[in-house]
Amino acid sequence: MTRRLVVVGGDAGGMTAAAQARRRASSDELEVVAFERGRYTSYSACGIPYFVGGVVDEIDALIARSPEEHRADGIDVRLHTEVIGMDLAAGTVTARGRGAGGETVERFDDLVIATGATPVRPDLPGIDAPGVHGVQHLGDGIDLRADVETTGDGPVVVVGAGYVGLELAEALHDRGRPVTIVESGSQPMDSLDPDMGALVADAIRGLGIELITGTRIEAFEAGAGGRVRAVVAGDRAIACDLVVLGLGVEPDVTLARDAGLRIGPSGGVATDASMSASAPHVWAAGDCVECHHRVSNRPVAIALGTHANKQGRVVGINVTGGDARFGGVVGTAVTKICAHEVARTGLNEKEARAAGFDIATATIESTTRASYYPGAAPITVKVVADRGSGRLLGAQIVGREGAAKRIDVLATAIWNEMTVDEIQQLDLGYAPPFSPVWDPVLVAVRKAATEVR
Ligand SMILES: Cc1cc2nc3c(=O)[nH]c(=O)nc-3n(C[C@H](O)[C@H](O)[C@H](O)COP(=O)(O)OP(=O)(O)OC[C@H]3O[C@@H](n4cnc5c(N)ncnc54)[C@H](O)[C@@H]3O)c2cc1C
Repeated sequence: MTRRLVVVGGDAGGMTAAAQARRRASSDELEVVAFERGRYTSYSACGIPYFVGGVVDEIDALIARSPEEHRADGIDVRLHTEVIGMDLAAGTVTARGRGAGGETVERFDDLVIATGATPVRPDLPGIDAPGVHGVQHLGDGIDLRADVETTGDGPVVVVGAGYVGLELAEALHDRGRPVTIVESGSQPMDSLDPDMGALVADAIRGLGIELITGTRIEAFEAGAGGRVRAVVAGDRAIACDLVVLGLGVEPDVTLARDAGLRIGPSGGVATDASMSASAPHVWAAGDCVECHHRVSNRPVAIALGTHANKQGRVVGINVTGGDARFGGVVGTAVTKICAHEVARTGLNEKEARAAGFDIATATIESTTRASYYPGAAPITVKVVADRGSGRLLGAQIVGREGAAKRIDVLATAIWNEMTVDEIQQLDLGYAPPFSPVWDPVLVAVRKAATEVR
């Protein structure tokens, strides 16, 4: 008999699972049905800031695989259809379509929950005024870009200085808009240590972007036509004609929780390494799940496309009889604001101490290329190591072009539990256009090696 795989959520986690399962099992063996409440599948939310900024012209460029392409591969994609309930004992979900379709009850043999995350949207006066934008799905990107293009050159406020806030601040700055970023924490990019966050703050201000830290938004004031005209923060009303919210996200676990699945301490759906949730034949992938942090050994919810794709692949393999594992995360992330690149991996100082480590740190300044080679730019690398064992626990990088992706060397080392002594021996590539003869990451771990002794 043909088994039936039902997928809830049509983006990275869900459609990677669906596509992988489809590749591994014939239509006679497995029917694959994917429900997506929006109108796109397999899209890159990561590209939205670049669409808003005009670096990418067409929204279609951000669609890796359209519903039609998935259907041509044998996946029954149901757009504009929201799953509103799951009965795990009965093996059914209830889906509500748009228009005449109404509600249907759909049988499943295996179920994949890939509902993503919900953006934080505080219940503040005026937050629903026209001109206040959240940014999560492609439709949000289209709306924001249209608003940017029709509101002239007035000032904008970005609320939140995490990576989404910074990338959107860049987009709006590049479009010539005066930008103010308001952040409740004491620095931008709160996953960095304060000394590295201060470098990012300097970079932002150096671009002519106003950065207000330690200040909470209290309200959004609307003008005569109802459109936002100011953001009230602390003792200021910051005039603007457009606001973008970048306040982070929380795992969307409403359906999973209501169905009785276990939700972990970080707030995501709890799974094992096979991405199996706490009921037989129920799997989960992407921003809605929590994962194992390989350094802190604690569960974390880190909403990144890179994890969603890997987890979806694991689900697609396992649901078709394979034996794949998701190995966890080390908290690697990169971003940029204009020419300034920011990267982090592993644990920062605070996280490392909270995880029980006695730490040593080392920070160095270098250049991205040989100092005499044109384009050599400043780079600061900070590493956090375990004092007793010398194991590398974390790293942060702030610099210009060529800086951020150096984090991958350190992420690989952390993944493999290497010590700073071992890392300084690594045979990394060198030629003047790419790095100084001692790559900055090697200089940083060499310094750390003297600190841990
Ligand atoms: C502006 C921005 C920039 C980003 N940049 C990066 C980056 O540079 N690098 C990176 O790694 N990550 C980045 N991310 C994060 C990345 O986009 C997400 O981690 C990734 O999309 C998660 O995939 P997902 O499938 O888990 O969830 P989502 O992409 O949120 O997809 C979930 C889907 O499920 C649908 N859905 C939810 N509930 C239901 C339901 N009940 N019924 C039917 N459908 C439902 C939703 O409509 C949605 O399409 C960025 C995100 C944003 C918003």
